[in-house]
Formats: sequence, C-alpha cells, structure tokens
Amino acid sequence: MIRLIILGAPGSGKGSQCKWITKDYDVPHISTGDILRKNIADGTPLGLEAKEYMDKGALVPDELVINLLKNRLQEADCKEKGFLLDGFPRTLDQAKALDSYLTENGLSIDKVINLHVPDEEIMGRALNRRTCSNPECKEIYNMRDNPPKEEGICDKCGSKLFVRDDDNEITVTKRLATYHAQTEPLIAYYTEKGILATVVGQERLEDTIALVKEQLA
Ligand code: AMP
Repeated sequence: MIRLIILGAPGSGKGSQCKWITKDYDVPHISTGDILRKNIADGTPLGLEAKEYMDKGALVPDELVINLLKNRLQEADCKEKGFLLDGFPRTLDQAKALDSYLTENGLSIDKVINLHVPDEEIMGRALNRRTCSNPECKEIYNMRDNPPKEEGICDKCGSKLFVRDDDNEITVTKRLATYHAQTEPLIAYYTEKGILATVVGQERLEDTIALVKEQLA
C-alpha cells in the first residue's frame, strides 16, 4: 500500500513514470486528465463543461476536479492499495482539499515526486507526441526519439495513434504558463511538509526511471 503524487509540468513525462510505478507497486494510477478525457469521449455533462477549459489549456474549475477525485478515491481499489495521483493536485486549493480529505479518513501521502523538465524540452516533446487511442494501452510515442515501427500504429496493440487535441504550440504555451502560475507553488507546499523529492527528467526514459526508483526506494 502506497500513496504517491507525481508533480510536474504537463508534458514532463509523468505518464511514462506512472506506467512502471503502477505496475511495480501494484497501485491504481489516477490521472484526472484521463478521467476528464473519458468524460468528453462519453459526452457526459462533466465532459462537455471540462472540454471548453481543456482545449484552451486552462485548468478545469477546482470544484469539478476535487469532487471527481474524491469520488475516485472512495473506490475499493484505492482503499485497498492506495493511489498514484497524476495531474492532481494542480492548485493549492486542490492540495488543501486533498489534505482535508486524507486527514478526515486517517490517511496521508507517502511521497511527492517532482519531475523537473525545462519548458523548451517540454514544447519539443509535446509537438512530437503520439498517443495510442486504445484506452487499455495508452502507449506514448515520440516522433523524434521514440517513433512507432509503423507510422500512426501502436507497436504494442496495433491501435491507431493520435495527436491529443491539446498538444499544439498555442495550447502547450498556455499550459506551461498555467503550470508556473498555479501548480508550481505546490513544490514549496510539499517541501514544507518534508515529503517532496525532485527528479530532473533525463533524455532517456530509463535514466529518469532509475532516478525516480532511487527516490522511492
Ligand atoms: P493532463 O492530461 O493531466 O495534462 O490534463 C489535461 C487537461 O485536463 C489540463 O490541461 C486541464 O485542463 C485538465 N485537468 C486535468 N487535471 C486537472 C486538475 N487537477 N485541475 C484542473 N484541471 C485539470
């Protein structure tokens, strides 16, 4: 049982780290971005409301995501195995709401991994990113460093790859600005609590994985 948060700018590679952590630690991976995208795909009222913000690179209002997250944390798998939060919290108010929820339930966060990658590097990666459309797979490729064997097709499951609606230059610039203004203060917040470890994202995924492993050991 472990309770983790992975913090980092959008596009810093949190998703790739979450893939191995969730396997190695047998812990549910909870990405608020994935849950919101699923709501958009299903055409739910929540999805319709969230899409407007997401397409602009803005944050979805706190109240919506906080409720969504709390509901998710009440599911059996989180109670049994803990959780790995990816993309939440993204504001101080979200972090405080999470703390209140955990305190009320006698729980606490074990560690916050802060994945640091410079903005220019993030922009380069986002514009080259292709994501597998199969929700069971979600493999991520990079046309520059890690292209699929066959263009547009996932090596692992054969599904089509797609470019996320929000992986374009204007939206990425906006998302980075949003990150610096609203999410970066969480680094100080969790440092003060003594549970934050910063890992600098390396060029090679395996190297970053090794650094994160050290911090979790
Ligand atoms: P992500 O997949 O984590 O990059 O999230 C994609 C988009 O979903 C973000 O740019 C936000 O618009 C929205 N989103 C995801 N998580 C949150 C959150 N915790 N708070 C507010 N908006 C969020």
